[in-house]
Amino acid sequence: MMMIKKSVQAAINDQIQIEQSSSYLYLAMSAYCESENLKGFAHWLRLQAEEETSHAMKFYQHLLDRGGIVELKQIDAPGLKFGSMQELFEKVLAHEIMVTEKINKLYELAIKEKDYPLQVLLHWFIEEQVEEEANAGEIVEQLRMIGDKSSSVFYIDKKMAKR
Ligand code: FE
Repeated sequence: MMMIKKSVQAAINDQIQIEQSSSYLYLAMSAYCESENLKGFAHWLRLQAEEETSHAMKFYQHLLDRGGIVELKQIDAPGLKFGSMQELFEKVLAHEIMVTEKINKLYELAIKEKDYPLQVLLHWFIEEQVEEEANAGEIVEQLRMIGDKSSSVFYIDKKMAKR
């Protein structure tokens, strides 16, 4: 088996940090929603946090399977308050767009370094990011339409609970 290149290993470790940071951010947002009595939004974000951890673990396992070294990095505190649900989901969408850019950069590196196994793994992530942006974008659109009318926010909250 060909050893994983150091540059690729470093970039995967960075991506593990990004995915775990996403998980931490969404978990903080979930706690905030729950404290605001928006249990549907809290539920949706908590599942999203778990999904981000599973993304980190895909990269983690990929590194280990290829004889690489996992180096866990520091994760910043995501904060306490996230404003209105519209503001919160604008942040989610912006965050996912940032993650997509990171995944694309990682893919460019995998091509440059002729790392075929990582390219294959990233095909899944590239598709996943299309879905993540579409999901967050759809929620943002709905919240933009209703503005901050609390009765409508509660209606969407009920829908979010069904995820
Ligand atoms: Fe992710």
